[in-house]
Amino acid sequence: MIIPKGSKLSGEQIAQVECIANDFDCSILEIQGRNRCVYAILGDEGREVMFKRIAGLSFIRSVDMIESPYKLMDKRSGLSDHVIKLGKEEIGGSFPFIIGGPCTIDPDQPNLYLETAHALKECGVNALRGGVWKPRTNPYSYQGDSKALEIIVQARDETSLPIDIEVMDLEQLKIALEAKVDILQIGTRNALNYSLLKEVGRLSAGSDTSILLKRGRHVASPDEFIAAAEYLVAEGNPNVLLCPRGTTPALDGYRNHPDESITPLLKNRTWAPVIVDPSHSVGHSDFVKACSISAIAYGADGLCIESHIDPSKGIGDDPKQAITPGVMKELIACCKSVWENRYKA
Ligand code: PEP
Ligand code: MN
Repeated sequence: MIIPKGSKLSGEQIAQVECIANDFDCSILEIQGRNRCVYAILGDEGREVMFKRIAGLSFIRSVDMIESPYKLMDKRSGLSDHVIKLGKEEIGGSFPFIIGGPCTIDPDQPNLYLETAHALKECGVNALRGGVWKPRTNPYSYQGDSKALEIIVQARDETSLPIDIEVMDLEQLKIALEAKVDILQIGTRNALNYSLLKEVGRLSAGSDTSILLKRGRHVASPDEFIAAAEYLVAEGNPNVLLCPRGTTPALDGYRNHPDESITPLLKNRTWAPVIVDPSHSVGHSDFVKACSISAIAYGADGLCIESHIDPSKGIGDDPKQAITPGVMKELIACCKSVWENRYKA
């Protein structure tokens, strides 16, 4: 990875670096961070002479050769101080970043979504979630509706909160980018869909769009999860949020096996923020608060929680696992107090 002395290289400087890289059959990719750009070397980068020639250019601060399966996501990479900003908030700032909202937006009852959005804003939620298109296990279950996108966009206009929706294919991705969705969610089922990850990274490169990458239900190791995120960054978008959400086989009584304890392992290896989803981990509204507090104690930067103004009127997962805005308010207060004290004796 190439780190420039200034905040980014000029066109002429890029051409000079590229000229050296091309001599070694490599090319470079600009990755736009919040405060500066870094440049990844694509190709067989283990060529010391190439490194020395690039490092010798007067406008280059350093060239790092990191031995890592995920050299951009690695904590030692030039992106280690990358800060992701969403709306007014920086992730990993002085309180947990909370994404809240229903599992699924009911396109026939827009008011339920809009009322939920306003109630969650009152509770201190920092971003709104809501399923527009849904990955359903059963093909006969409700699959989503593009009309729901208009509803969540209206909620953003009314509340000024950033919005998070899941995309499952290229067509949905293009529609979401067109609508300037702030957080693109890649669900557990697509967590290892490398072609989709590449398209998401490529089409959102250079923008402020963030990507919430869920941990796949069958994703084994922390490294496999981080390597999936590397696909996004390697296409040019470093605004990646890692989202543990429970794995299979489930713990008897929960929907999945809660995996918030993976957080310290991720934080040891990568700079990316961790946003835990307790709702899909435990799958029952009664257990969401405990799982949320536990996630923050383990060092998570935030939470993505399903919440609905009246869960019994919701669709998708909402009747069983959404919490009410009242519970969300208590949960946020508890999590803030754990956050403030988590590294104190
Ligand atoms: C969701 O967020 O509603 C969802 C379907 O998540 P996951 O991909 O984690 O199951
Ligand atoms: Mn859901």
